[in-house]
Amino acid sequence: MTTDDLILDMQDIHKSFAGVPALRGARLRVGRGEAHALIGQNGAGKSTLLKVLTGVYSRDRGSIRFDGADVGFGSPYEAQRAGISPIYQEINLVPQRTVAENVFLGREPRRLGIVDRRRMVSETEELLSGIGVHVNAARPLETFSTATQQMVAIARALSFDSRLIIMDEPTSSLHDREVQKLFEVIRQMTADGVSVVFVSHKLDELYAVCDRITVLRDGRTIAEARLAEMSRIDLVAAMLGRDPQDVRSAGQTAFHREQRALGDTVLTTRALSSWPALRGATIEVRAGEIVGLAGLLGSGRSELAESVFGARKVDHGEVAAGSAAATPTSPAEAIRSGIALTPEDRKTEGIVAGMSVRENITLSLLPRLSRFGFINRRKERAVVAESVRRLGIKTASVDQPVSDLSGGNQQKVLLARSLVLDPDLLILDEPTRGVDVGAKAEIQRLVSDSVNDGRGVLLISSEMEEILEGSERVYVLRDGETVTHHRTDGLTQDTIMRAMASGESPDARPAESGDDLP
Ligand code: ADP
Ligand code: MG
Repeated sequence: MTTDDLILDMQDIHKSFAGVPALRGARLRVGRGEAHALIGQNGAGKSTLLKVLTGVYSRDRGSIRFDGADVGFGSPYEAQRAGISPIYQEINLVPQRTVAENVFLGREPRRLGIVDRRRMVSETEELLSGIGVHVNAARPLETFSTATQQMVAIARALSFDSRLIIMDEPTSSLHDREVQKLFEVIRQMTADGVSVVFVSHKLDELYAVCDRITVLRDGRTIAEARLAEMSRIDLVAAMLGRDPQDVRSAGQTAFHREQRALGDTVLTTRALSSWPALRGATIEVRAGEIVGLAGLLGSGRSELAESVFGARKVDHGEVAAGSAAATPTSPAEAIRSGIALTPEDRKTEGIVAGMSVRENITLSLLPRLSRFGFINRRKERAVVAESVRRLGIKTASVDQPVSDLSGGNQQKVLLARSLVLDPDLLILDEPTRGVDVGAKAEIQRLVSDSVNDGRGVLLISSEMEEILEGSERVYVLRDGETVTHHRTDGLTQDTIMRAMASGESPDARPAESGDDLP
């Protein structure tokens, strides 16, 4: 592709936040009339790169050429005037206003100084029917589905004569039919010469609608290719930083496995669905085993955990977990049934920053420590002291604010909060993400210990070593469905990656049916 064919050419883009690099030499080149996929794991820098483009952030270094000219937009407004429109999930439309008002927001057509509503409505309806959407544009935007609202945002972008439309995860809350509709619109726009940058974790979608792809990893562009020439397995390997030829486990984790007798079943889910993230997940965990749950970002791993924990509405399917015979309807009920969850996002969901180490550890246990509304402080102190000792939590005192602790120690506090409940089923969502290597090894050791105590553990992790070495069996989720299930001995990362990428696992030995598993 010559530079003349490019609508966008971003080169060597660097951007740091408070000295921490988010982009370190990223490149994004998009052709005219091309649908371009931008992918990478969580934190790879996709959103930052797009925000540098649209003038939300300034770049530290690098060049941006748009439509043949060097540019550097000072604000999203400037970028939009130049022809770049982002369609975000949290789109800046006004729900209570009419569809027409939203399309013309800020530049309403006027007649003799008065907004010409009739013209606004008819022009909006014309614009929308041009992309195959037929609605009454005089109705408030909020009376339409998310999909239609998105179409309105696209119509607005087109009305600005946008030549590059940016869609960051546009399909995450759309139904299949709506996704097809969106794809039609994208195909039509690209046929008209408009370019689209499309961020999605759903590989099928990328292959269905995009021409070329850019893969980001750790703030750098790792691969650029025509999608037709890049297999799914190569794509996933690039994203995760693995050589597809050499993906055997490296043997670096601190799990210790012992021959453990399997006990009762502590978790069964059958065809569990929770729109839109889960569409049929079937797994089983027994006491005395660690079961891994693998999948790409957006595959439904955390949503499965939340559904089992009663923190998410279940549409179809069944859960039997701990002593609960039916799907728990609240976390409190799940905890009473012997289920504990250590959530993925330590900062936003897990740790309560304003509270002490002690309060954080006993947060879920308080109902059991209280009688007639009074907390048994002596018992609380004993439980906390025991946790701090057993888990090796490094803190000056148990009354220290938890936010003073290092990431690894905060993670141990979260783990302690689950362990003090003495659950039958422990669900760990990315228990070692973002902690240093020392704390990581300690946490892995603690997880092994807790299984030796006769619990069942469901381990969600993006690190394949952790899954392969830590768990006895692994389920792979893809687009909300369990696609494969394997024993981990002798299993390679390659097999898991294939299942994550395309749902297949040709060279693997599936878990035997004699194991009595779903
Ligand atoms: P992606 O969209 O690929 O998931 P992001 O661009 O959101 O990745 O993030 C890349 C990195 O930059 C992450 O480590 C993130 O924590 C960091 N980051 C992004 N935005 C900010 C910000 N406003 N302040 C500080 N750090 C940020
Ligand atoms: Mg992002």
